[in-house]
Amino acid sequence: MSDNNQLKYYIETWGCQMNEEDSEKLSGMLKRIGYTKTEVIEEAGIIIYNTCCVRENAENKVFGNLGQLKGMKRKNPDLIIAICGCMMQQEGMADKILNKFPYVNIIFGTHNSYKFPEYLNRVRTEGVQVKEIFNKETEIVEGVPIDRKSDVKAFVTIMYGCNNFCTYCVVPYVRGRERSRKSDDIVNEIKELIATGYKEITLLGQNVNSYGKGLEEDIDFAKLLRKINEIDGLERIRFMTSHPKDLNKDVVMAIKECDKLCEQVHLPVQSGSNRILKKMNRHYTREDYLELVKMIKEEIPEVTLTTDLIVGFPGETEEDFIDTLNLVKEVGYSSAFTFIYSRRNNTPADMMPNQISDEDKHHRFNRLIDAVNESVIKGNKGYENKVVEVLVEGLSKNDETKFTGRTRNGRLVNFTGKGIKAGDLVNVKITRAQPFSLIGEAL
Ligand code: SAH
Ligand code: SF4
Repeated sequence: MSDNNQLKYYIETWGCQMNEEDSEKLSGMLKRIGYTKTEVIEEAGIIIYNTCCVRENAENKVFGNLGQLKGMKRKNPDLIIAICGCMMQQEGMADKILNKFPYVNIIFGTHNSYKFPEYLNRVRTEGVQVKEIFNKETEIVEGVPIDRKSDVKAFVTIMYGCNNFCTYCVVPYVRGRERSRKSDDIVNEIKELIATGYKEITLLGQNVNSYGKGLEEDIDFAKLLRKINEIDGLERIRFMTSHPKDLNKDVVMAIKECDKLCEQVHLPVQSGSNRILKKMNRHYTREDYLELVKMIKEEIPEVTLTTDLIVGFPGETEEDFIDTLNLVKEVGYSSAFTFIYSRRNNTPADMMPNQISDEDKHHRFNRLIDAVNESVIKGNKGYENKVVEVLVEGLSKNDETKFTGRTRNGRLVNFTGKGIKAGDLVNVKITRAQPFSLIGEAL
């Protein structure tokens, strides 16, 4: 391998936007110290896997990929393999990986990724293997450079961790307790993004509605939204994720009243059955959720709602599942992430009786997808012949004769037009609704 290739890194990311953002930070740090990114794994001198452990299949993929690196490492002993992310925070996982894949050079967790350049340096200069995982969250580290994927829209994390302990979920164990960034740090980061041409930001947190707890300033999520709405040059603000138990009227009124806040709310319901919601430790009922949806729709008529759903939670009966299907129909989501319940070690749900068979889980999963698709298609149909504002992201990947972008409320639009570039806000007339996107012409 040439010296040039030693300075190339390849990074693969599993999981949520938080992991995506962590990878953008790893990439930012590497670029700052002279490395360049490659999309071709064979030409990389450093391979980084940023892992997820929310569901078992994400974990299995990491094991599969690590096995395949053995041959590459044999051919190129200088190749550096680094593994990080949520999977590493699980008890015993790092040792399991080192046992199975002893050629891994660096293992680190979610709380110390800012130290990656230091670990890399140790491997390069001392030839050691580095395994460092912090069990507890650290103070928030500001100022880590971020190499973002898009030039138009960016994710900005406003808080880390989660305190909710839903009984199926590992996130609170691997990401630690909730802690919020100071609002000035967030605002400054957004101002810097605007100065380099970004138009849209998505504020990220596991439960953005508890933003501000524990900070010395007088702030909560609704106040933060209003503060960010004041930033000149910013066009659109989105946020995720809202926990239904914590999304309050102040936030809904901020969406209604602030011109930059987009009319879209990601509101994971997980299940439509009160019995299951209780076992999940979600702290709301089906009725609370529907009441909240009603209030949001009344205040913001053009709003779209998206959600996360789990099928096959322990003890879920056909009736419970039908409750979920009916709720999906009643709310009318514009998209939904649907998941098959995955047993996670040491979570309360893993210990619950009446685990559901794979066959039932898959059967319900397929029926759920049909219900979600029906609701998405129905929603898209309503846009035919309407004019919508689209933030242009570039050319469509599937059809380079068209531009692609999203409406304020998050619908995907592919459209024709002239003299248009990424970052423009364009009025588009919708000519046709496809199942999962809208087709149109720029006006
Ligand atoms: N904090 C967010 C989501 C974090 S994880 C929230 O509370 O909404 C993203 C999604 O993964 C969850 O909303 C849930 O639907 C799903 N998920 C989490 N743990 C899971 C498990 N063990 N099996 C299947 N899906 C799971
Ligand atoms: Fe997991 Fe629940 Fe926290 Fe979301 S709110 S990250 S589902 S524990």
